[in-house]
Amino acid sequence: MLGFLKNLRKGKTHAAFTFSRPLVLLQSDDWGRVGVRDKEGFEWLRAHGIRLGERPYDLYSMETADDVTALAEMLRRHHDSLGRSPCMTLNFCTANLDFPRMRRQGLVRVIALPLSKGLPGTWSRPGILEAYREGIKQGVFHPGLHGTVHFSELAVSKALVKGDERAELLHTLWKAETPYIFWRMPWIGYEYWSGEEPHNGGFLTSGQQRERVNQACEIFSELFGAKPVSACAPGYRSNSSTCRAWSETGIRVVENGTGDGLRPPHVDHFNSLHLFRNLDFEPSQHELDTDKYLEVAAPPVSVTARLARFQSRAATPLRSALAQTGREP
Ligand SMILES: [Zn+2]
Repeated sequence: MLGFLKNLRKGKTHAAFTFSRPLVLLQSDDWGRVGVRDKEGFEWLRAHGIRLGERPYDLYSMETADDVTALAEMLRRHHDSLGRSPCMTLNFCTANLDFPRMRRQGLVRVIALPLSKGLPGTWSRPGILEAYREGIKQGVFHPGLHGTVHFSELAVSKALVKGDERAELLHTLWKAETPYIFWRMPWIGYEYWSGEEPHNGGFLTSGQQRERVNQACEIFSELFGAKPVSACAPGYRSNSSTCRAWSETGIRVVENGTGDGLRPPHVDHFNSLHLFRNLDFEPSQHELDTDKYLEVAAPPVSVTARLARFQSRAATPLRSALAQTGREP
């Protein structure tokens, strides 16, 4: 069912994939990443001047083992003609911030805590690692690499050195064991990219990116017993250095965002397959015209969803989309 197509563009030959029948790809990001620490952290932040509740992402917390198990069960309820269930790619952030250690050092720098070593401080998600692994074992989850801490450590270091209101906001959030809330501080950037960095288009150097990708892959292997084969950059911010670093670690599939438009999959010069998402199920998008999206998104359909953290809101449209594809994914 998989065929190669040679596209001739500007005299260059690009390898691409075509499919003889529609495919639906399910991809979801930010697994393993903590946000606002449940009710207690929420109340603490509100008591300290952060007016939480203004936007949906103020409610981003972290999936529980029950959420993960419920998602696995939902996927297991669907089958193809051979009885196989759909498999969703879960892209993991492999580290959180070690808030207690950072606090002991005066909150002057970022210290990462690998997800394989558990969750930081008073965060509690009993059985979460086991729930991920169980879904993988059942074949309904496929773990992919997102990154380590998601944000630009360079941007954070600069803010801390400067000691202005940005540092103050970070300190308040960190005291509540929340790493950041992106919409309140977009200057925090993404793992490989700082929007305010004038050099290299804001991207980390090749060497810095390689170091970060290797570190993330190491933790990923500790978590899942194998190296990742697919990756999606935090915020979709990647450049050729990122792709090279990924390919050197054995990653063969790169997931790109909807911002790139409707583009067919292609194979880059590192021999990695690039996929482009064309349907977003985001908690911040209340009204989704699923029919229209499915019509526009000619196959292969690549769906991204953040389910567990906002489950009640996001799971329904996904179920509806699965039903409306007219086939099991
Ligand atoms: Zn992300």
